[in-house]
Amino acid sequence: MQANVLITGCCGFIGSSLTDRLLANGYTVYGIDCFNDNYSKSIKLENIKSALSNSKFTLLEKDLNQLELDDISKLNIKYVIHLAAQPGVRDSWGPEFVKYVKNNIDATQRLLEIIIRCPSLKRFINGSSSSVYGDNNSDKPIPINFPTNPLSPYGVTKLTAEKLVKAYAMNYGFEYVNLRFFTVYGPRQRPDMAFSKFIKKAMAGETLIIFGDGTQKRDFTFIEDIVEGIVLSMNQGSGDYNLGRGKSIQLREALAIIQDYFPNIKIQFENPQRGDVKSTWADISNSTLDLGYSPKVDIQEGLIRQIEWMKERISY
Ligand code: NAD
Repeated sequence: MQANVLITGCCGFIGSSLTDRLLANGYTVYGIDCFNDNYSKSIKLENIKSALSNSKFTLLEKDLNQLELDDISKLNIKYVIHLAAQPGVRDSWGPEFVKYVKNNIDATQRLLEIIIRCPSLKRFINGSSSSVYGDNNSDKPIPINFPTNPLSPYGVTKLTAEKLVKAYAMNYGFEYVNLRFFTVYGPRQRPDMAFSKFIKKAMAGETLIIFGDGTQKRDFTFIEDIVEGIVLSMNQGSGDYNLGRGKSIQLREALAIIQDYFPNIKIQFENPQRGDVKSTWADISNSTLDLGYSPKVDIQEGLIRQIEWMKERISY
């Protein structure tokens, strides 16, 4: 029989995709989500719809900041996969920062305080971000020991969460990994993320607004590869890992794929936004070595799959 898993942020983009995968693998999944207001609850409920009809899934609608030992002490949780967060670089400046502190730092600390009181805990898997690195000016892949100098308040909160996980693991003796995700895309991508916005605009015949000149480079990682990396990390590895595609392309190349699909779209370039980095590129060699991680989906295939998924769901 498969072990019991706790997934935080289970109704979000990555959390719901992982939930479906672990249920298919026979795990019993307890999911926590508070439906925060970064996007609509109806989208998150749609994400988790199929899981909700599975008897091996239980949804706890709760803010991690209000989590009590009684909520999870009897669930015999072996793995915690922590994906709840306030994501997004651009909104993390100014008054919104309090939400980042609450959902990325305070919530992580509260979860850790509760979970160390559960003797069944074996491993804590923390969903982190390439934003912990800051800018990669070298035009080379970023190795896992690259200095962490976040360029946004969001990146600072994600780095703090990583450090909290490590400090608790070292003091309380459980296994841990911090997985640094590089720009994840595909079906269920958050509506505030670039590809989601571009495809929605293209479908509506509206002009795409691009911040920067399109030469910024990103390591775009397909959701199935990220989910596979998380699953692999449940039984192997220790410490920090990059989960990217291991290739970096200019945003213009991704736009060309969208343009091929929607030939009449118009694109308008605007000034870059504060906190946006020029380049991200994951060196995944230690993830391959320790976890057996081997991402498969290239941008051409992945982006078309996202477009077709969105076309089925959004009508104009
Ligand atoms: P998402 O917003 O779709 O999912 C996060 C979920 O967490 C949401 O459903 C939200 O309601 C929930 N949540 C937030 N705060 C909570 C709290 N205090 N208590 C309970 N639930 C809470 O985001 P996502 O894109 O799926 O990101 C998942 C994780 O991956 C996050 O940690 C994010 O920082 C990280 N990440 C994502 C990307 C990406 O490209 N999507 C890249 C790097 C890192």
